Amino acid sequence: MNKLENINGTLIWYYYICPREVWLIGHGIEADQESDFLILGKHIQEIFYKRQKKGFLIDNTIQIDILPNKKIIGEIKKSSKFLESARMQVAFYIYYMKQKGINLEGELLIPEERKREKIVLTKELEQKLEEAVKGIQKILKQETPPEPVKIPYCRNCAYKEMCWS
Ligand code: SF4
Repeated sequence: MNKLENINGTLIWYYYICPREVWLIGHGIEADQESDFLILGKHIQEIFYKRQKKGFLIDNTIQIDILPNKKIIGEIKKSSKFLESARMQVAFYIYYMKQKGINLEGELLIPEERKREKIVLTKELEQKLEEAVKGIQKILKQETPPEPVKIPYCRNCAYKEMCWS
C-alpha cells in the first residue's frame, strides 16, 4: 500500500492545528463555505495567482503551485500566523515529489506580508513528516472525530458551528 495514500497537504496543514479538523476533512464532512476565513483565503489566492503563476494537481489529490523557474514548489498563505503548519505543508509537497523521483525545493509565500521563505527537505524534516503521516492515518482510522478542544483557531474555523453551537 502507498504510505501516502489518502494524505494531502491540507491534512498535513491541519495536523499541526487541530486533529478534529483532520478527521472532519478526511471524512469529507462539509465545512461552512461562507466562513470569512475561507473567503479571504480564496480571494488572496485568486489575486496572487493572476500575477504569478498557475497551480496544478498531482494524483488528483495534491495541489501544487510551481513558481516560474519550475524547480520550486510554492505555497501561498495569507499570514505567517500558522507558520509551522505552512512549512510542514510545503515540506510534504517536496517529500511527495521525492517519492516520485523528482527533487525540488520549496518556497513559502506570504504576499500580504511580503515574505518568502525557502524550505529544504532535511533528514529531520523528513522524519517529522513521516511521524505526521502516521499520526494522520491514526486519526482517520478512528470511527468518531476527536473531541473538540478550544484553540484560538476555532474563532475562524469553518467547522466552528459544528463544534461549538
Ligand atoms: S472549531 Fe476548533 S475544535 Fe472544531 S474543528 Fe475547528 S479548530 Fe477544531
